[in-house]
Amino acid sequence: MNASSQLDGDTIVAIATAPGRGGVGIIRLSGGKALDIAQAITQLKLSPRHAHFCQFRSREGQVLDTGVALYFPGPNSFTGETVVELQGHGGPVILDLLVGTCIAHGARQARPGEFSERAFLNDKMDLAQAEAIADLINSTTEHAALNATRSLQGEFSAQIDALVQKVTALRVYVEAAIDFPEEEIDFIGDGQVREQLLGIIKQLDKVRAAARQGTLIQEGMKLVIAGKPNAGKSSLLNALSGQDTAIVTPIEGTTRDVLRERIQVDGLPLHIVDTAGLRDSGDAVEQEGIRRAWSEMESADRILLVVDGADSGHNNDDPGVIWPEISEHLTRTIPVTVIHNKCDLSNRPIGISESQGRTVIELSARTGDGMSLLREHLKDCMGYSAVNEGSFSARRRHLAALDQAADALATGRYQLENAGAGELLAEDLRLCQDALGEITGKVTSDQLLGEIFSSFCIGK
Ligand code: GDP
Repeated sequence: MNASSQLDGDTIVAIATAPGRGGVGIIRLSGGKALDIAQAITQLKLSPRHAHFCQFRSREGQVLDTGVALYFPGPNSFTGETVVELQGHGGPVILDLLVGTCIAHGARQARPGEFSERAFLNDKMDLAQAEAIADLINSTTEHAALNATRSLQGEFSAQIDALVQKVTALRVYVEAAIDFPEEEIDFIGDGQVREQLLGIIKQLDKVRAAARQGTLIQEGMKLVIAGKPNAGKSSLLNALSGQDTAIVTPIEGTTRDVLRERIQVDGLPLHIVDTAGLRDSGDAVEQEGIRRAWSEMESADRILLVVDGADSGHNNDDPGVIWPEISEHLTRTIPVTVIHNKCDLSNRPIGISESQGRTVIELSARTGDGMSLLREHLKDCMGYSAVNEGSFSARRRHLAALDQAADALATGRYQLENAGAGELLAEDLRLCQDALGEITGKVTSDQLLGEIFSSFCIGK
């Protein structure tokens, strides 16, 4: 797409400032008729990038407000089109009147996100950057806002672009070797391709880890509280959220449905899911609760596996032993933190330790002892301390695309190392490219063709 393809489209208008009353309220116009409409309203000839103090008039010539008009000619504007901002007084009625006047002059009301969408379509920013605008506006914490700003400035996109470039170069090499056998490039045997592939896999893993942290900070960590009935899951949820959200009773199987709770731990968002006591049950309602609990677990960022520490039968920290069904039900490996609850009954000291690579926390949900250890641990898991200059915001959509890209590379590696299948490797590299391209919305097959022709002298 280029700027001219959008310039002839509809002219859109919307209030750009937050709803409600304020000192200043801004109307934004974008599209081919934006300048004509603004000049009709201000009855001025607007010069680019100058602040014009003027009156805003209705179609009938009545003065509605006084303010400042700013004209940004395309393509050097936010959307890439002609953009005009009318800055008036921040009252909802007067701003609505101004929007109505723009519509009377031929503009139409913009859809949500349409200015950013046009900016993307006109190559002013890529998809990840456009998404970062929304994330910045919706940020609920300082960390999330600063991360979104870095994504908006293109930090995340730059890392994706760097990966795409490497994958493309490798694909070009592999495809050329296949298409021009007379060149006799033994790309399978010469080790170069493998080395480059492994390098890309490593780089992608780093971006995935950073994006994962970015997502957790932006969208919150999804925590599933799981364990056998009566281990104290509902009590733990209540202790974390500080509310009596879940019903706590000594009768097994009380929590029949999946409960969700959004809380913040030192400003970091957590989505907590408490699950029905996972056990075999003949009760249809309970069975449904159990089914939902397993499906919630599949999409969790971390599982808090609660064990009744006072029950000597559970003196083990291996989730597979505590709860053998866990490995049968879960299709991906989700990190588990083991919580030994009821330490007030077991007389075990509160504390945090590592066992077989897993964190084990002794606490009491009832007395609250040890809860601060859990909170600190959760902050660590979300990369609280790792929020730094290198971090950026990301969304689950990006994580899914990064996972797809990683899967494609893993398959490609297998094709290369085990099957010696160059064509299949080339196909996996293409899949990887497409998945990464989905993040920024940039990669097209035309682009790939261009790269092939420009980097190889086909006609030599
Ligand atoms: P769930 O079935 O896993 O959700 O367990 P609940 O949270 O409903 O707790 C089951 C029983 O254990 C209730 O009687 C709770 O009061 C009790 N309980 C939960 N946590 C603790 C704890 O840390 N100490 C003690 N002494 N009792 C607890």
